[in-house]
Amino acid sequence: MSTKWETVIGLEVHVELATETKVWCSCKNEFGAEPNTNVCPVCLALPGSLPVLNARALEYTIKAGLALNCKIQRRSKFDRKNYFYADLPSGYQISQFDLPLCYDGYVDITLKDGTTRRIRIQRIHLETDAGKLVHAGDDVAAADFSLVDFNRAGVPLIEIVTEPDLRSAEEAGLFLEKLRSILKYSGVSDVKMEEGSMRCDVNVSVRPAGSTEFGVRSELKNVNSFSAAVRGIEYEQKRHIRILEEGGQVEQETRSWRDAQGISVLLRSKEDAEDYRYFPEPDLPPVEVTTEEIERIRATLPELPDALMQRLMTEYGLSAYDASVIVAEREYAQWFLQAVELAGADQAKAVANWQINELYRVMNEKELGPDQIPLTPEQLVGMLKLMEKGTITGKIAKTVFDKMVETGKDAETIVKDEGLTQVADEGELLAIAREVVAANPKVFEDWKSGKQSAAQWFVGQIMKRTRGRANPQLALKLVTQALEEQAQK
Ligand code: ADP
Ligand code: MG
Ligand code: ZN
Repeated sequence: MSTKWETVIGLEVHVELATETKVWCSCKNEFGAEPNTNVCPVCLALPGSLPVLNARALEYTIKAGLALNCKIQRRSKFDRKNYFYADLPSGYQISQFDLPLCYDGYVDITLKDGTTRRIRIQRIHLETDAGKLVHAGDDVAAADFSLVDFNRAGVPLIEIVTEPDLRSAEEAGLFLEKLRSILKYSGVSDVKMEEGSMRCDVNVSVRPAGSTEFGVRSELKNVNSFSAAVRGIEYEQKRHIRILEEGGQVEQETRSWRDAQGISVLLRSKEDAEDYRYFPEPDLPPVEVTTEEIERIRATLPELPDALMQRLMTEYGLSAYDASVIVAEREYAQWFLQAVELAGADQAKAVANWQINELYRVMNEKELGPDQIPLTPEQLVGMLKLMEKGTITGKIAKTVFDKMVETGKDAETIVKDEGLTQVADEGELLAIAREVVAANPKVFEDWKSGKQSAAQWFVGQIMKRTRGRANPQLALKLVTQALEEQAQK
């Protein structure tokens, strides 16, 4: 991108809360049920029905706010945001306008060069999800007809709004990853973009580098993955720069991101807050939150990724990189901590190495998600113990590792069943060493004329004969002995 321009990005992220029931009624909040089975007069907005706030949704919103370093509004309220759409039976969304439950928070992101950037959170408010339209066609414009499923109508949703603090598509991607990780640790949502429990609108503008005023922004809707957000931002930033360099003016508008085509198209010129005719929701009382209540909720928060990452570095001596890939997913962090608890803190680096180099490799190959770890901490630690005791070599450990993943058996059983025990019997190894030295006179001559690597080659031969089970230090010692004997003959 031309360095004459600076990109400014603000995100509005919607996250469905993982409550048992919906926010204003007792219908189940579940993904994937038969269409229109989790519905009732309240979430279908039948006349005379009244909403009652789900206490758990309130708690989760505050919990998300605390996890994102927000202040909590002691006296908050709900407001009606009025608009018509086929997925919104009431004709208004219950949301929060001037008194969001949480405000003034931040998330720190770590850039590739190791520097940290603080991205401010403007607000987090609690609102109602709408139903889901399923278009018979590419999108609403191309569809012959659309079907509507109200199972999602009334699901509690939080909207997290950032200040326009992000400066590149890459930063936006890092922010979304970090946000997802924190919310998942907090347990307030399962934050699955592919199931729509986390969705994001992207606001992008461009200004001359060094300018302190913001440019006119466009807002992208229909951004369905982190990578789509990154692609959408890159596209918009180019589009804005082209308009500006041609002497034109960017219009403030809402656009739809078509990821498959890699383009954005105009949806509507931007509406203003006034257009929604917000007013206080008359069917719900204001919400009072006490200090005790906030502290009670704070106490339910687990150790969050930033704090945990610091601890892995100071307590266990992990590098920043290793610590960051372990804390990225809560399941990975729990797996690591369990393994270290079983193996002892002195094995923490070994655990991290196996987890990052071998476990993640296997999971990548098998396309497994973080909730599908194919190995227990007990299995890994059992294998590490066999290495420590000298029962198996490091080389054999890799074989054992793969077999544990394949069969689910523990290391000891695999080693016993397949005869993988390390050979550390001097007599047995010396005999093999003498054999391979005698059988390879050419390499022996190389060694004699000073080629050091020839000894390693003989060790390799011993490994071959023992299928990798020879103790490597012992093998080298005995190879040297056999070579010297041969030289004296
Ligand atoms: P609205 O409620 O009308 O969508 P807001 O002022 O609340 O507008 O901002 C919505 C989002 O747009 C926020 O994430 C904010 O950071 C971002 N934003 C505001 N101005 C700009 C701008 N000039 N460039 C990029 N993002 C912006
Ligand atoms: Mg908005
Ligand atoms: Zn309902």
